Amino acid sequence: MGRAGVTPPPKKPAPCPICGRPAVAAFTPFCSARCSDVDLGRWLSDRYVIPAEDEDGTDPPPERSE
Ligand SMILES: [Zn+2]
Repeated sequence: MGRAGVTPPPKKPAPCPICGRPAVAAFTPFCSARCSDVDLGRWLSDRYVIPAEDEDGTDPPPERSE
C-alpha cells in the first residue's frame, strides 16, 4: 500500500523572452532588469513613436531666432 515515489517534476521557469536565458523570479518573466527594460522599451516604441537615438531623453531648448 505504499505509494511509489512519484514526485512531480519541478516547474521549469519559462526562458526570458528577450534573450532566452532562464528567467529569474525577481524579474519574471525576464532574466534581469535589463531585459525587462528592453521589453518595456519595445512596448513603448510600439505604442508611441520614439526616436531611437534619443537615449537620455533630454532635448536641447529650441533656438529662437527673431
Ligand atoms: Zn533576458
